[in-house]
Amino acid sequence: MPGADGMQNGFVPHLVRIVAVHDEAPDVRTLRLEFVDPEAGRQFRWEAGQFGEFSVFGFGEAVFTLANAPTRPGYIECTTRAIGKLTGALRNLSAGQTLGFRGPYGNRFPVEEWRGKHLVFVGGGSGRSPCGPRCSTSSTPARTTARSSC
Ligand SMILES: Cc1cc2nc3c(=O)[nH]c(=O)nc-3n(C[C@H](O)[C@H](O)[C@H](O)COP(=O)(O)OP(=O)(O)OC[C@H]3O[C@@H](n4cnc5c(N)ncnc54)[C@H](O)[C@@H]3O)c2cc1C
Repeated sequence: MPGADGMQNGFVPHLVRIVAVHDEAPDVRTLRLEFVDPEAGRQFRWEAGQFGEFSVFGFGEAVFTLANAPTRPGYIECTTRAIGKLTGALRNLSAGQTLGFRGPYGNRFPVEEWRGKHLVFVGGGSGRSPCGPRCSTSSTPARTTARSSC
């Protein structure tokens, strides 16, 4: 949501709703999230490599990489590994339930400088999350070959 100066304000919290759940591995899950306020969703912009602060109500907050390509706005995705209190609680949520979200934060990857180059992304476990948006934003129109295993 823009601030008074018209710039996006990453400190404003939003409600996001889980609209799809995809299990990548027994302890790794991808959530697709839509902003409850559609206008906030339309205006939200981020860059490949950035992350967000997610709230699981009653448990706390944790940061997760924004795992979908910023060239496809309208929703956000995060891929999380259940390793503790908050990520375990997140694992128990299902489609229709809401989370808190604010962001984006962190540095972006210089994907424009990578355009046309041969790129190899290596990530393990939930560390695969940042690889998705990097592949999607840096490969067009070059051919992308993705190999993924869990
Ligand atoms: C910039 C950034 C981006 C991140 N992106 C993602 C992401 O996309 N997906 C994701 O799943 N996680 C990501 N993380 C890690 C995530 O924030 C933590 O896993 C989360 O805060 C753990 O909270 P918890 O309450 O579930 O665990 P806690 O209850 O706080 O921790 C339980 C135990 O797990 C250990 N632990 C904590 N984090 C990890 C970890 N990552 N791996 C192994 N052991 C750990 C703790 O030391 C503790 O012993 C990111 C972290 C940062 C800093």
